[in-house]
Amino acid sequence: MSRISSYIKTFVLWELLKGLSLTLRQFFRKGVTIQYPEEKTPQSYRFRGLHALRRYPNGEERCIACKLCEAVCPALAITIESEVGEDGTRRTSRYDIDLFKCIYCGFCEEACPVDAIVETRIHEYHMEEPGENIMTKDKLLAVGDKYEAMISADRAADAKYR
Ligand code: SF4
Ligand code: SF4
Repeated sequence: MSRISSYIKTFVLWELLKGLSLTLRQFFRKGVTIQYPEEKTPQSYRFRGLHALRRYPNGEERCIACKLCEAVCPALAITIESEVGEDGTRRTSRYDIDLFKCIYCGFCEEACPVDAIVETRIHEYHMEEPGENIMTKDKLLAVGDKYEAMISADRAADAKYR
């Protein structure tokens, strides 16, 4: 019986008909493809994109140069040099992140005791010249200053689930 049924299925091109019926069903369904970059998918507030260094509301740098982020970074992407300022506080004199080495694991922001280094939701960036892959302290602070509202809102949303 199974041989007869197999013979009939082969004769009527059953597998082809099954495939075509699937194509026909999908044809009338709503598409899942979006027209990026005009259209964008929703993004998680935990998205790990471009790094930023944050300041306190009074403008003071959060980073205390403890180097925990440098120590925990599995890609050795962070380079920190520190010095003691005139007010006796320890600050970074150099804070570089090599974006070519970074694997966007988020360990640096997890390790930071003062919420200074964070990964933002910014993912649309590029480099044109050699050396632009190095995010210097000034560049990181500039990103933090520009996107502080988004960063603090994302971290507040994340805090609800911790
Ligand atoms: S995200 Fe991960 S790899 Fe990138 S700098 Fe931070 S710790 Fe290093
Ligand atoms: S960013 Fe955070 S973990 Fe890294 S050196 Fe500064 S305070 Fe320490």
